[in-house]
Amino acid sequence: MKNTLRYYGKYPDEYGHYGEFGGKFAPEILIPALDELEQSFHENYSSEKFQAELINLYGDYAGRPTPLYFCERLSEKFGCKVYFKREDLVHGGAHKLNNTLGQALLATKMKKDRLIAETGAGQHGFATAIAGAKFGLTTEIFMGHKDVMRQKHNVYRMKLLGAKVIPVYSGDQTLKDAINEALRDWISNIHHTHYLIGSVVGPHPYPLIVREFQRVIGKEIKEQIMTKEGRLPDVILACIGGGSNAMGTFYEFIENDSTALIGIEAEGEGIATGKHGASLFAGTKGILHGALTYILQDEYGQIQESHSISAGLDYPGVGPEHVLLKEIGRLKVVAATDKEALEAIDLCCKTEGIIPALEPAHAIAHAAKISAEYDKDDIMVITLSGSGSKDLDILKQHMRLEE
Ligand SMILES: *Cc1c(COP(=O)(O)O)cnc(C)c1O
Repeated sequence: MKNTLRYYGKYPDEYGHYGEFGGKFAPEILIPALDELEQSFHENYSSEKFQAELINLYGDYAGRPTPLYFCERLSEKFGCKVYFKREDLVHGGAHKLNNTLGQALLATKMKKDRLIAETGAGQHGFATAIAGAKFGLTTEIFMGHKDVMRQKHNVYRMKLLGAKVIPVYSGDQTLKDAINEALRDWISNIHHTHYLIGSVVGPHPYPLIVREFQRVIGKEIKEQIMTKEGRLPDVILACIGGGSNAMGTFYEFIENDSTALIGIEAEGEGIATGKHGASLFAGTKGILHGALTYILQDEYGQIQESHSISAGLDYPGVGPEHVLLKEIGRLKVVAATDKEALEAIDLCCKTEGIIPALEPAHAIAHAAKISAEYDKDDIMVITLSGSGSKDLDILKQHMRLEE
């Protein structure tokens, strides 16, 4: 039998480790489900039939390939060639659908007729609801009661798509409690339910599966930049929440040392205030959601609440592959504040006519900071992971416009 893992390079190893990170720190009762998922993923993902179905979904349904857009006016301002990878144009308004479509397709191959997911702000729940409706799967989204109250708009969108939103009243009634509830549900309904995780986090094989479904971003960038410029970029920037848009962007370029990779986390109100979401930049080693990674924790190992103006970056952990890439010096990790992200939104709106989501605005903010280091022929690619249309309520609170 051929070793399908070899298709994906060196990492993870067969136990799901990225160096010492990652792994499968899950209750014993879940191990058979994780093993089934891993086996089924390898069988399907390496088959031509599955690949053809996925490419078809990405094309006609999701709207891929997304453009690699040359930002003429921003390039003038920054003094180098700036390109945006337009994941904001994917159906649903963000890169998240690349993963939910892939996993929903996989779920049908595994003969599961029900999807569950947890969501904090509702964006992953929304992307899961889209995929669930598209495949005719029963879809149930666990969401902390506090988040349900805060995110009425997204709750409505999920329900409109036929998904059931289940408010979770335990604990702090936020994301971590929703995760616990989703896991509990999965354990009881394992035979017909697929648990759809939304980023390159969680126990093995999730970080691998989500990376593979998001890799399409970097593959397209590579082809598109070769067509437009005849060479690879000097620097690529992507924001990191759990790390899926960044991992999907970076993966194809890891072996090409002449391309610098920069991941931008949420600095919130500043690292010193403790109100941030910069797990990789400012966190410490620990276990969260089934993997050894970098997390925000207090001295007793209790998970600390993260903070960011952007819901998508508001997560106290990060994917294990990012930790490895950082530790071996391949990935540079930095952070941008709420305020810098808001300024970047203003800049992007007025110079390019594009309202970016708050998450990739962090990447644009960092690009602005380092632009002086680059010459006019240098190529910078920024992954615009999503559209700002979901953020209008927050923008209204922070960016006063003239009457
Ligand atoms: C969810 C989200 C993110 C953060 O998730 P990653 O897994 O780090 O990509 C970033 N940008 C947008 C637009 C999102 O919706």
